Amino acid sequence: MVEKTVFKKIIDGELPADVVHQDDLCLVIRDINPQAPVHLLVIPRKEIPSLRDVGPEDRELLGHLLLVANQVAQHHKLSDYRVVINCGLEAGQTVWHLHVHVLGGREMQWPPG
Ligand code: 5GP
Repeated sequence: MVEKTVFKKIIDGELPADVVHQDDLCLVIRDINPQAPVHLLVIPRKEIPSLRDVGPEDRELLGHLLLVANQVAQHHKLSDYRVVINCGLEAGQTVWHLHVHVLGGREMQWPPG
């Protein structure tokens, strides 16, 4: 049997997390290793390993994830913030369950490392 990812364990209530939002499609947690004063992860309940695995059937879900990203950013008083999806090893993805990073509360640099 394939081992559950940490995010699936959090969704299933098997691992604790600081949950700041949840609805029928996703949950938002604080990153355990924050890279900015506010670092949130928007995680779909649906198990999708990576952005490259989405299809047309995920159109509504993907839109929802971005709407929620903005909603939680506003809730945390972030007027400026960065949204990141790491897709694949070379891009820095470490957890194989699609998630959207929301980072804010400090000045950001570009290009990212
Ligand atoms: P990725 O590198 O895949 O884009 O992002 C994975 C993120 O998940 C990392 O920023 C990492 O700190 C975070 N993370 C990994 N394990 C846990 C965990 O058990 N709990 C929480 N809250 N975040 C985690």
